[in-house]
Amino acid sequence: NSTIFSGIQPTGMFHLGNYFGATRNWSDLSEKIKNENINSKLLFFIADLHSLTVPQDYKKLQEQRLEAFASLIACGIDPEQATVFYQSQIPEHSQLQWILSCFTGIGILNRMTQWKSKANLKSNATIEGSGELGKVKLGLFAYPVLMASDVLLYNATHVPVGLDQSQHLELTREIAEAFNKQTKSGFFNIPKTLLAPSKKILSLKNPAKKMSKSDPDVNSKIFITESPTQIRKKINKTVTDSIEGKITFDPLNRPGISNLLTILSAVERCRIEDLVPKVEHFSKKELKELVAESLVKDLSIPSSKYAELMKNREYLDKLSKQGTQKAREIASKNLKEVMKLVGMA
Ligand code: ATP
Ligand code: MG
Repeated sequence: NSTIFSGIQPTGMFHLGNYFGATRNWSDLSEKIKNENINSKLLFFIADLHSLTVPQDYKKLQEQRLEAFASLIACGIDPEQATVFYQSQIPEHSQLQWILSCFTGIGILNRMTQWKSKANLKSNATIEGSGELGKVKLGLFAYPVLMASDVLLYNATHVPVGLDQSQHLELTREIAEAFNKQTKSGFFNIPKTLLAPSKKILSLKNPAKKMSKSDPDVNSKIFITESPTQIRKKINKTVTDSIEGKITFDPLNRPGISNLLTILSAVERCRIEDLVPKVEHFSKKELKELVAESLVKDLSIPSSKYAELMKNREYLDKLSKQGTQKAREIASKNLKEVMKLVGMA
């Protein structure tokens, strides 16, 4: 019996990285489970508490939560098959975070890289010292412990994420192991990381960075709701390189071109090795046109589903209430066990 669990922050409209690296992959996994009659629980959530780790316009955030919920379903998550909910509606997430923070070393949190990039710090920065470092919020620094709590609260066995989250999942496993050992219980499953084939989609403007919701440059990303005109314009303006000759997949030396190939292989659901021979004689312009047209076609489904769903807020509210109820049953049962194990009940 497996439990597949993952989440996404309501920090803006979902982009190609979220789609190919996360939500479409979740939908593919769900399809496979349905078709092959596999006994597996599926839980997907809106990680709204996580979005508080960086400054937000709270009025906007409230709207973005609903938009994220609708986007999740628009990306192909079936709310009848999967439990879909908002993290903030289940207090057990934060309660477990306290317990697990008592099993987490500061040294290992110090080695995580994402809080540093979100605080505009170098990857070798540590929390010691003052100045810019002293301004880092405790929530941002401790965010990986909340993520571990999310996963472990449902005793997940598999967590499908993009590459940027694999470090946090390693931490999750360490925390689970520390808890199991110190409570002599073996209570938590040690969750596995499931990486999508397109585990890292890069920024269209700066291929040294991943595509991110929090990147203020809208030209760095394509949203799942993007219009055909915008898709064509943004792909056409993608930063590539000045290397002449054949199109090649070379992430190190040609990150922009390689990113376009990754996107195309994700849309076409084919391997890069099979794709390259078909496009190697294309000019860069022709490659961009092909990528743009395949995206226009591919995104038309989530895009129109999203527009449809946003017209029916009551339906979305009903779904989230149902999901919350189902998730909370598991969460409260597991938290009770954890509390017993640490002598609190
Ligand atoms: P933010 O900038 O606010 O952190 P984000 O774009 O990084 O937003 P998240 O909500 O943090 O998105 O992550 C949701 C899921 O999408 C995670 O599983 C994450 O690994 C995945 N993901 C995010 N960006 C990419 C990307 N560029 N390529 C592949 N997967 C990605
Ligand atoms: Mg992120």
